[in-house]
Amino acid sequence: MKALKTVCFKHIYVEKNIKDKTKDILEKFSDSEIIYIDNYLEIFGRKKQSFAFQKKNPSLILAKKNGKFLYPNPPYCQNFGFERSFYTSIILNCLFDCSYCFLKGMYDSANIVFFLNIEDFFLELEKEEQNGNFLLFLSYDTDLLSFENICGFIHKFHNFLSKHKNITTEIRTKSSNFSSIEHLKPLDNLILAWSLLPDEIIKEFENSTPPLKNRLFAINKAIEKGWKVRLVFDPIITTDSIKIYEKFFKKISLSIDISKILDISCGPFRMNQKYLKKILSLFSDLKIRTDKEMYHKIIEQIKLTFSNKILYSIYDT
Ligand code: SF4
Repeated sequence: MKALKTVCFKHIYVEKNIKDKTKDILEKFSDSEIIYIDNYLEIFGRKKQSFAFQKKNPSLILAKKNGKFLYPNPPYCQNFGFERSFYTSIILNCLFDCSYCFLKGMYDSANIVFFLNIEDFFLELEKEEQNGNFLLFLSYDTDLLSFENICGFIHKFHNFLSKHKNITTEIRTKSSNFSSIEHLKPLDNLILAWSLLPDEIIKEFENSTPPLKNRLFAINKAIEKGWKVRLVFDPIITTDSIKIYEKFFKKISLSIDISKILDISCGPFRMNQKYLKKILSLFSDLKIRTDKEMYHKIIEQIKLTFSNKILYSIYDT
């Protein structure tokens, strides 16, 4: 993770109607220029923005979310055995810069939006809980753990989830910033899910994310503290040789006590065609390798190495 001291925003845009909730965040960025706005879409929704240009130096936008707070999980995502699963977008955009990230296809802006009316998210979740248990993906349009030192959203959700056991929540991350939440009590209904890829692929496709060893270190810390941890090999980006993946899985099995992992999830690279088309029009040199035969070899290797763990997988490519 970029340490907080290295994260800086030249401009922070603040919706006037959320001003009273911004003190804790603004205190951390005393050098930033604060600009008050009526609606975050004035900045985030501007036409003809350059995602690639903004990504180099994004602004932060502090806003209030209106309308929908919960969305049904898309059919191409796993549901881990839950009949009902949802995602929520409390932050838009990310500190990391994975070249295959769907956010580049979804948004015109790389500016980062925090929705600070978290109690409205909680109200919506409580309403949904009345219809029975469900799975919630909390870190969907972002990497929430990487932002924890700035916004503290995981702390707030942790408090909420400790009283709402019917909501099982997954926080998916590539961050090594476990230290920001390590003092929290692990909850049965809160899963930390680390996305992992071989270092060779991280270097090529996951710009500014922590290397594998830092993620493994964070995983070990989380296991040690009793957190539920999921390993996620998704998206699997194929290679010319299976050896890279063999070495990768061996490294994981030697570094982590796999018996303490909750489960393993994997899937191929997949994306809404409209987003993919847009990404390829912006980044024409992007070459994601999705060789089906190699994908299946990698899946077989996962089964061989982690055979005693439930494998939630999308096998067909
Ligand atoms: S960590 Fe996830 S949300 Fe962030 S850039 Fe990478 S793929 Fe996108």
